[in-house]
Amino acid sequence: MVRLPFIAGNWKMNKTVEEALELAKQMKVSLAKVDSVEVAVAPPFTALFTVRRELEGSRIGLAAQNLFWEDKGAFTGEISPAMLKEVGCHYVIIGHSERRQYFGETDETVNRRIKAAFKHGLKVIFCIGETLKEREEGKTFSVVERQVEGGLKGLKAEEVRPMVLAYEPVWAIGTGKTATPEQAEEVHRFIRNKLGRLYSQEMAGEIRIQYGGSVTPENIKGLMAQEDIDGALVGGASLQAEIFSKIVRFREI
Ligand code: PEP
Repeated sequence: MVRLPFIAGNWKMNKTVEEALELAKQMKVSLAKVDSVEVAVAPPFTALFTVRRELEGSRIGLAAQNLFWEDKGAFTGEISPAMLKEVGCHYVIIGHSERRQYFGETDETVNRRIKAAFKHGLKVIFCIGETLKEREEGKTFSVVERQVEGGLKGLKAEEVRPMVLAYEPVWAIGTGKTATPEQAEEVHRFIRNKLGRLYSQEMAGEIRIQYGGSVTPENIKGLMAQEDIDGALVGGASLQAEIFSKIVRFREI
């Protein structure tokens, strides 16, 4: 099964509208000729509209960093799936560890968000990963298994098929510590096998699983050489066009 590599940049709570526009302009130029890798960027909500307009006509997709599951109403501070669709998002990141860690996200709320995204035609980048404590206690596989089961609860095969999973060990996010390609591959293979048991081998073979956690131009090639690593969710290194574009062009390194 040939899976098209997918590299996405999570800008987190960085970049004003003006700064985001500048970064999008630079990325449009530096990634203009890339066609063998799918690319998306996830600016903060305030910059989505401006970045979408700038990226029109390019192959760079637009992702949001979160959504709320209700369509509309009295939910101060939240953003609905329809609002993200209208602004031009193709993808939405759900269950990022920073949401779980700082904003009370649980497997159940992740599941509600995933269902809402599917209902509105947004593709999901579904993040999972263990903390350092969980890894040291030998709980990596059980944590990841619980997150996959909880996040996908009640979802049918056709809802899961277009999704992308992102395995992001929490201890590697923003810390400069990357999982070794072998450590990452071991968990990616486990996740794919789990998807195979939950749905089908055929479907598990189609789903892309990104790695996330201090990805840089220096470590991307080794990670992408692994059989079950199909791309990357990049945080810090996606904030500079030149560095992000080196990651996207990992084959040329
Ligand atoms: C992330 O935010 O998903 C991430 C992986 O961040 P960083 O690349 O900075 O570790």
